[in-house]
Amino acid sequence: MSYNIHVGVGMDKKLDLQRIESQHADQIDWSRYQDMAVDLMQQYLRINTANPPGNELEAAKFFKRLFDQYGIENEIFEYKPGRANIIARLKGNGSKRPIILLSHTDVVTAEPAAWEVDPFSGLIKNDYIYGRGALDMKGEGLLHLMTMILLKREGPPLSRDVIFLGTADEEVDDEGSLWMIANKAELFKNAEYLLTEGGDNLLEGGEVKVVGVDVAEKAPFWLRLTATGLPGHGSRPVADSASNRLIRAMSRILDWETPVKLLPAVEKYFKDIAPLQSEPLHSQFANIRESLKDPAFVKALTSQREYNFLLRNTISITMLSGSKQTNVIPNAATCNIDVRLLPGESPDEFLKALTAVVADPTIKIENINRFKQPNSSAVDTELFSLIARRTKASHPKAVITTKMLSGYTESQLYRQLGIIAYGWAPISTTPDDDEGVHGNNERISVKNVRQGTREFYEVVRDIAR
Ligand SMILES: [Zn+2]
Repeated sequence: MSYNIHVGVGMDKKLDLQRIESQHADQIDWSRYQDMAVDLMQQYLRINTANPPGNELEAAKFFKRLFDQYGIENEIFEYKPGRANIIARLKGNGSKRPIILLSHTDVVTAEPAAWEVDPFSGLIKNDYIYGRGALDMKGEGLLHLMTMILLKREGPPLSRDVIFLGTADEEVDDEGSLWMIANKAELFKNAEYLLTEGGDNLLEGGEVKVVGVDVAEKAPFWLRLTATGLPGHGSRPVADSASNRLIRAMSRILDWETPVKLLPAVEKYFKDIAPLQSEPLHSQFANIRESLKDPAFVKALTSQREYNFLLRNTISITMLSGSKQTNVIPNAATCNIDVRLLPGESPDEFLKALTAVVADPTIKIENINRFKQPNSSAVDTELFSLIARRTKASHPKAVITTKMLSGYTESQLYRQLGIIAYGWAPISTTPDDDEGVHGNNERISVKNVRQGTREFYEVVRDIAR
């Protein structure tokens, strides 16, 4: 792909914040900073960090130029040619432990032919800024950047360090964060809090209805099942051939209903969204623990995809293979299954239960991904209350709740260091907007960038003052 990358072109000419006088927090010239945020959002989206190959060094340089310009201490770590992480820091007085603003700078690839605009154009159309990564997650990264600049120029004295961390390769192998944790953890491992992607705020009819703070994620535990057996000609069936035995095992797996479990964050989620439901769902959600004792309710609830994964370990049968030819009975047949475990679950226990369900000792079951222990963060924290309070101020009707994601985020890696990690950003999207994430025409509204700049700054300011 041959996109022109214009790192930083234009900003210095159009907007020179150095000319804005430093002011008290309540006198911040918001429109100037918000104009700057929109302009920088466009610039950031023009940097092609589609992974593979990533080329996140260009994104790191984009941030470095701005951090240098505003006198914010920073360092790039190029751990492989073209692949780089960047860390920047505003020093606090050390009376509280740091907060990390974590974003990945890579994006998934884009198919230009399927887009209305060039995916790396940063074009503004109908009050949306288009670009691969606008929501996942360059938009948040931009808010993190603006917060650093605002804190530096306008913020109160800090009681804790505010650390900006931009990492490479989240979308493929997580090399960036894994490298930082393996090699540079002393720079951030004493942090108390971390904010990153994973939050999910629902915009409906122009109003923010739900603000979901991601406090837990499920963990992928991918398995491959292999059956072996006597091969032969398709014209003379083998009753217990590899494919036949595999299919019987898969059928037992399909019929298996994994146990329903209610985690505290999920219980809170159901209670929080209860008021948005009509009866009888309203009462059933409000008393979810009690409601789940009714098998008919469990059946109805778990038949809905958006609720089912919250309540149990799930299994999706995804890859199947057997013979390459219709008239050949293969000597091996395999099936990959995408298992997602709830936080707190043990992969060994799950494997034991699954093996019992398969009930065929000749079928080999092996783990084929690098399993990362699912975990979660507490909700009764100062940061959570600040997010809730700030959200209420801007969106009085919004329900603020906890979310558990079906997918993975890097929060899992950083929680292992003892850090409270949340997925949250003041970016609200319609289900239509969400289609763009890993899809076509990814975009973020100008309004999200403008309002988000202020809301995100104010939350970080308040937790760090
Ligand atoms: Zn992402």
